[in-house]
Amino acid sequence: MSIYGRMLACCAVLALAGCGATEAVPDAPATSTPAVPASSAPPPLESAHGPTGTPAPRRSGALPPVVNHGPRRGKRVALTFDADMTDAMIVRLRRGEVSSYANLSMLDLLEKRKIPATFFVTGQWAEQYPQVTRRLAANPRFELANHSYEHAAFTADCYGLPRLPAGRMTGDVARTFRVLEPFGGRQTRYFRFPGLCHDKAALRALAPLGVTVVDGDVVSGDPFARSAAPVVQAVLSTVRPGSIVIMHVTEANAQYTDEALPLILAGLQRRGLEPVTLSELLGEQPG
Ligand SMILES: [Zn+2]
Repeated sequence: MSIYGRMLACCAVLALAGCGATEAVPDAPATSTPAVPASSAPPPLESAHGPTGTPAPRRSGALPPVVNHGPRRGKRVALTFDADMTDAMIVRLRRGEVSSYANLSMLDLLEKRKIPATFFVTGQWAEQYPQVTRRLAANPRFELANHSYEHAAFTADCYGLPRLPAGRMTGDVARTFRVLEPFGGRQTRYFRFPGLCHDKAALRALAPLGVTVVDGDVVSGDPFARSAAPVVQAVLSTVRPGSIVIMHVTEANAQYTDEALPLILAGLQRRGLEPVTLSELLGEQPG
C-alpha cells in the first residue's frame, strides 16, 4: 500500500474510533485534489512582496496556484512543519490532558544544526504559543506560512475535522495572516489546507488573499507514529529532489518527530539532498 493509502487507511480507522473529530489529523493529500507542480503553475511573482517586505496579496482573482513539489532537478528539498491547533486540542491543553503541542526539542535541533525550514502555523497555535512563534520568526532560516486559523475542514469529508462554512473560509485564512504578521520574520503567502483537503470552491474562497497553496509529496505520517522508525522510513523512501516533506511540530500528537529528524537529516545528506525554505525551493528568493 502506498504511503498515501496507508495514511488514508489510518484516518479511516481513527474516524471509526471516534478520534477523527477531536484530534489533529495528518496532512495527507486528498485523492480528488488536483496537484499542480510548481514548474507548470508558477506562482505570480510581480507583487509577492509589499513595501515593508511583508508579502502582499495578489488581487488577480484567479484561483490560487497549488504546489505539490519544487523542481526535480538539483538537490533541494523543503522540510515543512505544521502547527495544528483545533478547538479540541485547546480543550485538552486546558484540562491538562496533554502537556504541550510545541515540540521544542525539534526546534532546538533545527537551530543547532542551522537547518532551514518552513512552518505552517494555525492562528490558534500562534495565539497559544506566542513565545515559540516569536522564536520561529526570529530565526533567519525559518519561514512562516499559514495553516488556517482553527484547523477546520475546507471540504465536506476531511478526516472527521469539523467543517468550516463556505462563508467563513476567506476570513479564517485572512485572520491567520493578521495574527502572524506582527511576529515579523520571513512572512510568506503560502497556505496549506488542514488535512490537505481542498476543492475548487475552497480554492475560489482564497483567491482574494493571493496565496499559493502548498500540498506536498512526502507525507511523514508523524501524527500516527508510535516510534521514530516509521517516520524516518516514510520520508526517506519517498523523498527526492524537489520534494516538499510534511511533518508536524505538535509534540503531543507527533511525539517522535524530534527523534526522527536527525535520522532524516542524515538520510538526506547521504542522498546529497539539501534542505531549503519553500521560497528557495520554489525559486521565489535567492537560495
Ligand atoms: Zn494540519
